[in-house]
Amino acid sequence: MTPAADRRFAFITGAASGIGRATAELFAGRGWWVGGADRDASGLERLREALGPDRCSVWELDVADPADWERVSAEVARETEGRLDLLFNNAGIGVVGLFEEIPLEQSRRIVEVNLLGVIQGIYAMLPLLKATPGSLCFSTSSSAATFAAPSLAVYSATKFAVKGLTEALSVELARCEVRVADVLPGVIDTAIFDTSPVYVGGRELGPTEKPSEVPAAKEGAFRLIAPEQVAEAVLASYEGDPRLHWYVPEEVGEIDREKASGVEAMRDARIAARARGGGLLDAG
Ligand code: NAD
Repeated sequence: MTPAADRRFAFITGAASGIGRATAELFAGRGWWVGGADRDASGLERLREALGPDRCSVWELDVADPADWERVSAEVARETEGRLDLLFNNAGIGVVGLFEEIPLEQSRRIVEVNLLGVIQGIYAMLPLLKATPGSLCFSTSSSAATFAAPSLAVYSATKFAVKGLTEALSVELARCEVRVADVLPGVIDTAIFDTSPVYVGGRELGPTEKPSEVPAAKEGAFRLIAPEQVAEAVLASYEGDPRLHWYVPEEVGEIDREKASGVEAMRDARIAARARGGGLLDAG
């Protein structure tokens, strides 16, 4: 392998699929070494085969498990000689349904993965980021962190928390020249819609009962977007665009701007839309 000082290193969680995989491919294509982490061992193996062992190492890791982070961060540090140019905290899970119909254990798991997973990842990898000039700590929030999505209440709460963490750390970590930003994707064409459990009437729907189509709108903030477009935002952020929150597509940002001028009006419009019989996620 090329000496560490001449390479750039990215560590990406949720790299076996969707946004994480697209980002791993983009950065590896630019000559970066990519450390891919995920719970999905076979998906990781496919990633390593696609990118090749000179450009990619993979780690089976549960972002919710601090012991996994301790083990993996030490191994990554050995491989990169203590450097890390990009940490992409991207792994996440969803669960759809009315708040009280989702079992508490499921909601706890969402918090453990989507929020504690990000926090633990930053604790584990911060020494490497601090040791690397120009490094970036980037996380995946969601359009659910503009106006929170009904039927995704706890998911939305974790994504608001990630957005808040980004804002606070973007100021705190400026003292050690680690940049911090996040992305708020709209509806991205990934496996998450198939894998997220859906609860209706107090029970989980079976595979054949779940909506077969991704809940995307025909146009606007919630139109279907390819994961590669989110990957482009990560790269542009690393390359120096100073944006704190990346909205993909940009129309997602309009919700935050509109909300700033009247959150109650937005709430009332959403209640009215839901009463008219919007879909499960009321996208759009
Ligand atoms: P995806 O299901 O294709 O990929 C998520 C990956 O994370 C999977 O490979 C999964 O195995 C991995 N993962 C899940 N739990 C994990 C854990 N505990 N430890 C390690 N890996 C774990 O979905 P995606 O859409 O690419 O999701 C990536 C991120 O984007 C998530 O944080 C998600 O909340 C966020 N997001 C997705 C959308 C969308 O429309 N797809 C929109 C907004 C935000």
